[in-house]
Amino acid sequence: MSATTKTLIRGARILGGEPQDVLIDGETIAEVGLDLTAPEGATVVEADGKILLPGLVDLHTHLREPGREDSETVLTGTRSAAAGGYTAVHAMANTFPVADTAGVVEQVWRLGREHGYCDVQPVGAVTVGLEGRKLAELGAMADSAAGVRVFSDDGKCVDDAVIMRRALEYVKAFDGVVAQHAQEPRLTEGAQMNEGVVSGELGLTGWPAVAEESIIARDVLLAAHVGSRVHICHLSTAGSVEIVRWAKSKGWDVTAEVTPHHLLLTDELVRTYNPVYKVNPPLRTEADVMALREALADGTIDCVATDHAPHPHEDKDCEWGAAAMGMIGLETALSVVQHAMVDTGLLDWAGVADRMSFRPAAIGRLSGHGRPVSAGEPANLTLVDPAYRGEVNPAGFASRSRNTPYEGLELPGQVFATFLRGKATVMDGKLS
Ligand SMILES: [Zn+2]
Repeated sequence: MSATTKTLIRGARILGGEPQDVLIDGETIAEVGLDLTAPEGATVVEADGKILLPGLVDLHTHLREPGREDSETVLTGTRSAAAGGYTAVHAMANTFPVADTAGVVEQVWRLGREHGYCDVQPVGAVTVGLEGRKLAELGAMADSAAGVRVFSDDGKCVDDAVIMRRALEYVKAFDGVVAQHAQEPRLTEGAQMNEGVVSGELGLTGWPAVAEESIIARDVLLAAHVGSRVHICHLSTAGSVEIVRWAKSKGWDVTAEVTPHHLLLTDELVRTYNPVYKVNPPLRTEADVMALREALADGTIDCVATDHAPHPHEDKDCEWGAAAMGMIGLETALSVVQHAMVDTGLLDWAGVADRMSFRPAAIGRLSGHGRPVSAGEPANLTLVDPAYRGEVNPAGFASRSRNTPYEGLELPGQVFATFLRGKATVMDGKLS
């Protein structure tokens, strides 16, 4: 698409406000106002009743390339992201090879750019091979073309306190952040689901809340001690919320995310023994879900991150104990957030823009994303139809994988259009 392409979005409710027109010229928002005239040759998008948001930003996506292209690739994953309204995703480092060198992160970053559906910002591994023993070359990844700012061994916890301390000290040099997958490994050996009433009844090995909370408590203290920045991945318990709230009250540089599935689903679903509900961290209780919603609403939890975790059929379609952990989420995240947060009155659309675009972009130190919808800004935008209602049908997903827990569930909202630097990656609900 040439740089002179113009699009006029007519009558969109920006962040849920009063209807306005938005003119995109090339890669940039040229004008925002009332009754704008469509320039000659411009594409006109009628957006009556639709909400215009800044392009969504995910801090936590597993794109699986390199190494597990049977479950997802940068191409299929970024198409999935665009379909879900995302214009930038952070790609986790647990690939094969692990993204622990400048070479691997640059490869992933470049693939995202070449495909052109969604920007891919690689996350660098904290330790070599995610083995938890030796710090990876964090500086080289930060200085690479990919400009890595988020570092994580996600999938595994950086459980050694000395390694965690060193990582926190190291990333200060380039304003980086360590994103911790908080899971005390000894407390979760062989764990299959949340430890509680349901695990007791089913006789499955439980995953105690304290395994998550003890690591978060340690790491917010470590971050404060060295004056660095820590981000907590996928908060899943009410106790974790309390610790993050306390750390923030101290003024420490602590941020946190919650997944859509932890805002909606509970461990009661494990009674079905359907491995689609097997995930790390596990689905918790109703009380945890309510605490997470409240914390996202009041800002204690900064953002929604999908933890999009594609797995091929054979890794999920087996008995509970053998099944892989994780679920896909890019194409349903916004609908789940509308259902759990907007339609319940907990968050308005400006809040959605904050938790799904502004704040994740700020935490990842992304430029060009998570910007206000105003003239002069890059045209990274998502147009949502909040009145849409439909059953989730994984057959229509752009992701290579199908492990969604929402199949057949009626959810609100549809991504009507997504613009990446002015180019429509999605229009009329369909990928370009
Ligand atoms: Zn994780």
